[in-house]
Amino acid sequence: MRKICLLAITVLLASCGATKNVLTADKTPVLAALDLKNVVDDKVAVTVDAGAFTTEEVSFFIPKTVPGTYSTDNYGQYIEGFKALDYEGKELEFSKTDENTWKISNGKSLDKVTYLVNDTYDTEGEVKDKVFSPSGTNIIAGKTFMLNLHGFVGYFGGLKEVPYELSVSRPDALKPTTSLTLKQLESPVANVDVFTADRYFDVIDNPILYAKPNTETFEINGITVTLSVFSPSGIYSALSLKDRMEKMMGAQKTFLGDINGTKVYNILLYLSTMEADDASGFGALEHHTSTVVVLPEAMPKDGLEQAMVDVVSHEFFHIVTPLSVHSKEVQYFDFNDPKMSQHLWMYEGTTEYFANLFQIQQGLIDEGEFYQRMMDKINNAKSYDDAMSFTEMSKNILVEPYKKNYANVYEKGTLINMVLDITLRQLSNGEKGVLWLMKELTEKYGNNTPFEDDELIDEIVSMTYPEIRDFFDTYVIGDTPIDYNEYLVKVGLKADMVEQETGYFLDGENPFIDVQQGDENVVFIRKGIQLNSFFTDLGAQGGDVIKSINDTAVSLKSIRPIIGQSFGWSPDTDIKMTVERGDEEIELEGKVGSPILNIETITPVEDASAETKKLREVWLKG
Ligand SMILES: [Zn+2]
Repeated sequence: MRKICLLAITVLLASCGATKNVLTADKTPVLAALDLKNVVDDKVAVTVDAGAFTTEEVSFFIPKTVPGTYSTDNYGQYIEGFKALDYEGKELEFSKTDENTWKISNGKSLDKVTYLVNDTYDTEGEVKDKVFSPSGTNIIAGKTFMLNLHGFVGYFGGLKEVPYELSVSRPDALKPTTSLTLKQLESPVANVDVFTADRYFDVIDNPILYAKPNTETFEINGITVTLSVFSPSGIYSALSLKDRMEKMMGAQKTFLGDINGTKVYNILLYLSTMEADDASGFGALEHHTSTVVVLPEAMPKDGLEQAMVDVVSHEFFHIVTPLSVHSKEVQYFDFNDPKMSQHLWMYEGTTEYFANLFQIQQGLIDEGEFYQRMMDKINNAKSYDDAMSFTEMSKNILVEPYKKNYANVYEKGTLINMVLDITLRQLSNGEKGVLWLMKELTEKYGNNTPFEDDELIDEIVSMTYPEIRDFFDTYVIGDTPIDYNEYLVKVGLKADMVEQETGYFLDGENPFIDVQQGDENVVFIRKGIQLNSFFTDLGAQGGDVIKSINDTAVSLKSIRPIIGQSFGWSPDTDIKMTVERGDEEIELEGKVGSPILNIETITPVEDASAETKKLREVWLKG
């Protein structure tokens, strides 16, 4: 029927100028169909069908990049068997102009395009720039499909803003979890789900996880949250993970207060087997009303829950920025020629800062844990270029040398916000901080009102204090490294070296020794880490290979019982260790002592004034 209908319109268009545009492609929803039932060779067949085209040449695109990933992923490389068909089903000629673009020259005859999609998860180990799993795609016929739709559904040039209708034919046992709207059909077809989206952006913004039902739904202050879990061995259920998520998101909502958010939120959790053909990029990607989380199934429950708390809280806070507060570059995202915004310090930095701050404010972690997290970020930030302008890095994040500094948005990006928060608190007598600022910006802008990229900082300065101009000019636009102690002292804290008790061979879960890959007989002292007093007092060095301890030859197998015994050593226990350093073999002898590790940590200043203590209180407790 459709074919006939469109033919009639084409004729009509040719003969009557007055009705032009009535049912042309720009006024007709784009229909995309995915066949998850008949998967052949691990590929899904897709059809994308628009209304009548009026131009000679039509371009079809699969995204090169998508919002939130800040990387070039070329999803077009996973497409094969591309065909452009006319209304009689005959193939039209086309040319592929780059990895993600197909040009069909006889546009007016074009009815639809069809192609096959390969998934990204099972080739992550083989490709050079692998797609981060939470934005990748997965096809396991009959079992599960991770539909990050930018990997499956493309768009025609000029038709990004028209509505989409997505029809998914699926195996009976698999059910979808998504924030896309399910269309109510007069005559539904069994095992075919039809979804609608207002524009292409909304297709991309709403991933779908198809799996055997393993979901839980709960309410938090007006938000309906659904957690959907794919656990390959079945070890994890949504029910078993629900409580911690519910508590955490409740705390987030309390922290955010009256910032307008979403009514629905879906958490799509994919647990990987970690086999060579499964996902290996762990973490999550944010969307307006959902998030895709990928983690290893082998994680113990505690670890998995903590990772979910850290990752999902970060993604959920993205509803503040960039999902609500963002620039035009984000609002009118160009999937195939993206222009990046300068404000990753906010999109990722503020988000990650909130994901830590809310935990201390809402009592999920204590002060010590919060300081430790900030200290870890100070240390982690040292692996990146501290003298790189954050706004310049952000604008150029897809290319080197900025690209390799990307992960610093989670480290220094957080710290920029911590310093800004302390500064705002100080200037406002404790009343205003970064959360206040984000509330103001949310009210001023919001979902559909983007800001001008190079006016945001002026705007923030005009909303706050002239001193904030200096802060941005120096540390965010400028390339001056931040002296954190200068700011910590304002809230009665300092970052300092302290002595901490530790183990002989292990500091908590972190070993001071390691085994050479491929040779379990070579046990060495790790290089490039802070060693404890046990090793340094003996005269051992990072890189030394431990040949024997108390005349027992050391291998992975024999060191285990020695580590076991070490828990019972008293400080005056004698030890003899033979190490190999370069070509030399060295005998080390002495008492084992009480192992001490010098670590840098953030601690309260003892004689801090009442004023600074009060400022710390409002900063940490809201
Ligand atoms: Zn993020």
